Amino acid sequence: MRKPLNSSPFATGTVNRFGRSSLGSGPSAVNSNARILANGPTGKGSAASAAAPFRPVAGGGSKVAPSAAVDTLPVSNLGLNSERSRDRMVARLREQGITHEAVLAAMRAVPRHVFVDEGLASHAYEDAALPIGHEQTISQPWVVAHMIATVAQGRELGKVLEIGAGCGYQAAVLAHLAREVHTIERIHGLYEMARRNLRGLRFPGRLRVVFGDGMAGLPGSAPFDAIIIAAAGIKIPQTLLGQLAVGGRLIAPEGGADQRLVLIERVGPANWRRSELEAVRFVPLRPGTQY
Ligand code: SAH
Repeated sequence: MRKPLNSSPFATGTVNRFGRSSLGSGPSAVNSNARILANGPTGKGSAASAAAPFRPVAGGGSKVAPSAAVDTLPVSNLGLNSERSRDRMVARLREQGITHEAVLAAMRAVPRHVFVDEGLASHAYEDAALPIGHEQTISQPWVVAHMIATVAQGRELGKVLEIGAGCGYQAAVLAHLAREVHTIERIHGLYEMARRNLRGLRFPGRLRVVFGDGMAGLPGSAPFDAIIIAAAGIKIPQTLLGQLAVGGRLIAPEGGADQRLVLIERVGPANWRRSELEAVRFVPLRPGTQY
C-alpha cells in the first residue's frame, strides 16, 4: 500500500549532489510532475497519493518486491538489472492503461536511471517523480508515457516541441517517436544537465536542446505537430497555440493549486478544440531564464 509522502527518503534525508536544501520537504521537488490519484489513502485528490515513492511495484506478480526492497539494490548492479526494471515499469504502464505500443517501446528503450542522481538511481523505475535539483523534478513515468501517447495517438510525429527539458528524459523518449525534437529549458544548470545526459544516448530522431524561455516557443522552427509542456501555468501561453500545425496537438498541465492536463487540438487555422483530462501536479511554468 502507498505510504504518505512524508515517509519519503527524498524529503527527509537523502544526501546527494544537490544537498538537502534543494530537495527540502516542500511539494515542488518530490511530488510534482505526477498524476493526482482520486482514491489515495489520504483522500480524494490527495497530494500525498500523487507520487509517493514507496509503493509496491504493481503488476509484476508475487516476485515483485515492494520498493523498499528495490531500495537495497546495489548501484553497481544497475546496468544488469535496469533492463528488467524497465520491463517491469512497462508492464506497470500497461496496467495503468497505456496502450500505445511505440510509446511503450520508447519507455523500454530509454535508461531512466541515467537521468537521475546516482543516489536515487535505484528508484529510477518506480512510478514516481524524483528531484533533479533546482527544485525541479523528472516527471513520473506514467505522466511521460500518457502525455506522449495522447499527442501521438493515431499519427506519425514529425516535429515536436517540449517546454521544460529538465534533465532531458522526456525529450529522449520523444526522440524515439518523433523525427525532430526541440526542447527548451529556462534554468541554465538543467539545460547543461540535459545536454550531458543526452550526449551518450542514441535515438532515431534529431534532438535539439535550447536554453531559453519556452513560453515564447520557437517561432523559427514552428509549426509543430505536437507541443508538450512539462510545467504548469495558470493559462497555456497563447503564443504556443499559434505554433501548432493545423491538425497538431498540445498537451499541458494548467492551473495553480489544482491542476489538470489539458489537450488542445488545432482543428483549423483559427480553430482550437480543448479537452480536460486527469488531475495532476506539476512544477510551475515560469517566465524568463535563470542562471
Ligand atoms: N521534461 C522533464 C520534466 C522537467 S520538470 C522530464 O523529462 O522529466 C519541468 C521543467 O520545466 C523544469 O526543469 C523547469 O525549469 C522548466 N520550465 C518551467 N518554466 C519554463 C519555461 N518558461 N521555459 C522553459 N522551461 C521551463
